[in-house]
Amino acid sequence: MHFLDQAKIFVRSGAGGPGAVSFRREKFVEFGGPDGGHGGKGGDIVFEAVPGLNTLIDFRYTQHFRAPRGKGGAGSNRTGAGGDDLVVKVPVGTQILADDDERSLLADLTRVGQRVTFLKGGMGGRGNASYKTSTNRAPRQHQTGEDGEEMWVWLRLKLLADVGLVGLPNAGKSTFLNAVSNAGAKVGDYPFTTLRPQLGVVRHKGREFVLADIPGLIEGAAEGAGVGDRFLGHVERTRLLLHLVDGSGEDPLDGWRVVRGELSGYGAGLADKPEVIALTKADLLDDKTRAKAVRALENETGARVFAISAPLDEGMEPLLDTIIERLAAAAQYEPFEAADDKHWSPL
Ligand code: GDP
Ligand code: MG
Repeated sequence: MHFLDQAKIFVRSGAGGPGAVSFRREKFVEFGGPDGGHGGKGGDIVFEAVPGLNTLIDFRYTQHFRAPRGKGGAGSNRTGAGGDDLVVKVPVGTQILADDDERSLLADLTRVGQRVTFLKGGMGGRGNASYKTSTNRAPRQHQTGEDGEEMWVWLRLKLLADVGLVGLPNAGKSTFLNAVSNAGAKVGDYPFTTLRPQLGVVRHKGREFVLADIPGLIEGAAEGAGVGDRFLGHVERTRLLLHLVDGSGEDPLDGWRVVRGELSGYGAGLADKPEVIALTKADLLDDKTRAKAVRALENETGARVFAISAPLDEGMEPLLDTIIERLAAAAQYEPFEAADDKHWSPL
């Protein structure tokens, strides 16, 4: 099984171009003065958070990113052209971590369009013209360009969504996501076929929020340590959980408890996030069964429980109203702010 939400890549900024050694050649001037220009600056490595990406899968195929070097200087005091910056496009929510034991966080791209100059290109070398002095009128000194910087880093994607869908397999998460957004998630027996988190934008009464269904969340957690953790990592960065409980299951309350257990087991505050609970597949239930399940959940949680049928659009409006209200009250996600001592700071 592959996990698409982290990748290790190599990045290198471009070296500066060498300064030139050159002398003017003019008719009738035997010893022309030095006129070698400076080398150009090497290209920077820049990370940019772009919309429309929600996995790091591309980084399984392309792992090396090298910005071009600066061009050499030339005669007539011409400075070499700078190397173009290499812009590595990543999904919003990508963190850049050092490849060391601590995996320290170096940058966190949380906003669309956010750019971080990660590695600076080397400076171009000085050309010989700049070494001319009163005593040395024909210097041959020059500098080679400064080296670029290189390092291996880990990219880790922790999606940023307002609402994270949680629930056991078959609870109706994909169905719900499709009903309220344009995500186009696969419905049915697809717990593992795609491990891409599905994101959808939900518009309701002039407001909007981003809803994420993370396939394999609880499914994976049940498979053993470490598997589900990767997915639960995404849930860390949501502001509210929408917990779907299969109303047609044997014991809805027990289903709810299993998921709560996974959330508590993970830690990182998942269990403390605001939770909205909905009982799905209400269309399959007679009134009595439905009322009993809702009551059992309400008694346990002390919260209002919504009985819904996403495909039949039943019970959806009060649920979405509540999500919008609760989001307005929920905490905003606080992105990591890198120290601005070096060049990690956003452009
Ligand atoms: P997921 O595993 O949580 O993503 O669940 P899915 O959305 O794939 O749904 C599992 C099955 O339940 C599918 O066959 C859906 O068609 C069905 N389903 C989901 N929601 C409802 C509902 O409200 N009513 C009915 N009758 N079936 C539903
Ligand atoms: Mg699903």
